[in-house]
Amino acid sequence: MTLLQINSFAAGAWVAPNAGARPIENAVTGEVMAEAGNDSLDVAGMLYHARKVGGPNLRKLTFHDRARMLKALAAHLDKHKKALYDLSFATGATQADHLIDIDGGIGTMFVFASKGRREMPDGHVYIDGEVEQLSRNGTFLGQHICTSMQGVAVHINAFNFPVWGMLEKLAPTLLAGVPAIVKPATATCYVTELAVRLMLDSGILPEGALQLVSGGIGDMLDRLTLQDMVSFTGSAQTALKLRSNPHILKNSIRFVAEQDSLNASILGPDAGPDTPEFDLFIKEVQREMTAKAGQKCTAIRRILAPESHVEAVIDALSDRLSKTVIGDPSNPKTRMGALVSGAQKRDVLAKAAIIGTEATQVYGNNDFHDHKGAFLTPMVFHCENPDSAERVHDTEAFGPVSTVMGYRDLSHAIRLVNKGQGSLVASVITQDPAVAREVVLGAGAYHGRLYFNNRDSMKESTGHGSPLPHMVHGGPGRAGGGEELGGVRGVMHYMQRTAIQGSPDILTAIGGTWVDGAIEKPAPAHPFTRTFHEVQIGETIHTDPRIITRDDIEHFADFTGDTFYAHMDEDAAKRNPFFPGRVAHGYLLLSFAAGLFVEPNEGPVLANTGLDSLRFMKPVQAGDTIKVRLTVKMKTPRNEEYGEVRWHVTLTNQDAEKVAEYELLTMNAYMR
Ligand code: NAP
Repeated sequence: MTLLQINSFAAGAWVAPNAGARPIENAVTGEVMAEAGNDSLDVAGMLYHARKVGGPNLRKLTFHDRARMLKALAAHLDKHKKALYDLSFATGATQADHLIDIDGGIGTMFVFASKGRREMPDGHVYIDGEVEQLSRNGTFLGQHICTSMQGVAVHINAFNFPVWGMLEKLAPTLLAGVPAIVKPATATCYVTELAVRLMLDSGILPEGALQLVSGGIGDMLDRLTLQDMVSFTGSAQTALKLRSNPHILKNSIRFVAEQDSLNASILGPDAGPDTPEFDLFIKEVQREMTAKAGQKCTAIRRILAPESHVEAVIDALSDRLSKTVIGDPSNPKTRMGALVSGAQKRDVLAKAAIIGTEATQVYGNNDFHDHKGAFLTPMVFHCENPDSAERVHDTEAFGPVSTVMGYRDLSHAIRLVNKGQGSLVASVITQDPAVAREVVLGAGAYHGRLYFNNRDSMKESTGHGSPLPHMVHGGPGRAGGGEELGGVRGVMHYMQRTAIQGSPDILTAIGGTWVDGAIEKPAPAHPFTRTFHEVQIGETIHTDPRIITRDDIEHFADFTGDTFYAHMDEDAAKRNPFFPGRVAHGYLLLSFAAGLFVEPNEGPVLANTGLDSLRFMKPVQAGDTIKVRLTVKMKTPRNEEYGEVRWHVTLTNQDAEKVAEYELLTMNAYMR
């Protein structure tokens, strides 16, 4: 059989395996099917190409350009995913596993594409938080901003998710404007190589944005600079070795680690065998033990149940596992495929034997031990003394292996769940909000994610083991201390946050967002008559004044039904610490403000879509006069026809005191 030659992609060219190539095994047959690796790969040239070509190409694009690029890439992969499925069966993964890895990866890219368009500006600078008032008169302000790192992101991935593992890192990296060199685990790099080929062949990516190392990375880590970063996923052992590289330590090179962890699931004290929560718990545990044959960093390794329910849990779980069809992953009837390799199978059996020194095996057999493929039956252990046990809390058998432990009360369960010394996720199946709160207070600090599920949420819940692009993935201690995903938070790992201090004009120019106190540009015509592209940041109008009368207040109260005493009853209003007497409704002021600043004729302003940050700062009484300043604060394209304009609106009284302030959102057409 000719071996598949798994290439690297370096400085714009495909590089075949050569001296130093490593064999890759088919998980199902146990035969060597491919080889990858080349000791003479020019890693210095790859870094140079990423920094000199990929980075500048990406940084020319705005966040929105990059988000559109991600969407196109995800759509392209989605169109060709069948080829990825077909190849990926050889890793031991079933079709259901492909949905996690391949569809999950593509879905993650789509979410980042959408978040990039909705939550980031169409520019190059991301503003992090509000303006800070550093001076009495507002002439010197502070703001935090983020800009793209100017180096390369080296992604080192684990074998279990050859597609998701790459895309969940690549999407935020590219959105940040940073090129990536992806180094998948050798065992499954042939699937990653195909996904990279698909992306490169699409022509969507700029030159230098994506390179691939199949096999070893040589001395790449020793050549990184302060503008580069490493994002690692894999075992705690490899993470420790790589992050303690003296060059990385000396140069403070960012190193994010996502490691293994001893994730736990707690059956709530309220969730007895007759409750829907009990069935849900058994289903979740069985799914986590068998999906990807238990080779998931988030899989449930420790099963915590009230002592009185331990037996029922073992019985129900064993029953469910006995119905799990194990075998050829490409057979649609199969529910659990193979581990990735014979070596992995041996490692899992060795780790299970360690767990077996402190726990009794209550489910699982030797059916597949002599099979050429890397198959195993799931193994359930029962640990009777989880307080004195150590190995069941720190040994990760990266396969379908889990240990049941009984707990006396919730505080005992919390102590046990925290004995994993930091995990990616812990779940609690409970209908009792008080249980959920107690677990959060006792265990939150030890876990990157806490997942609660019960009869109310189970139909729509996403699963204990699914890291979602919207939510942070990572965990303290044993889990690596890293963080990925979490929406725009995940993009920030590839950007530098910088504190900017200066005048309002300086801050406006840097952030592309008008800051109060900066120069107001007089509008050449009413801004509501100007298209999205015509209105300029800082463009301002000041309206005529309007006197507020007692009739206005009474009319508004009568018309809307808002006869709150502060607007209607002089004595009652005076007794209130906020008001000098009867005051105008805040909503009346907003309505008058709109009446003062709108241009009524049909024009480019299509709709008012909301208000943000509304504050009423000073009461307005009958006889007071208000006027409005309306300034273009920020513009964000939304689709092919229109974009969002964010206006800064300030209402002042006859003494030039601010009485109200807010941000108004409108959708403005590109064409008149
Ligand atoms: P691993 O053996 O630690 O390898 C991880 C990655 O590091 C692979 O790409 C590997 O490449 C590479 N690597 C190993 N030694 C290296 C070196 N000296 N220099 C540069 N790169 C090196 O882990 P694995 O067996 O692939 O994955 C299983 C582990 O990953 C489990 O412990 C699991 O819990 C963890 N995991 C964690 C997460 C998470 O998000 N936290 C997700 C998935 C998996 P080669 O394959 O070429 O050696």
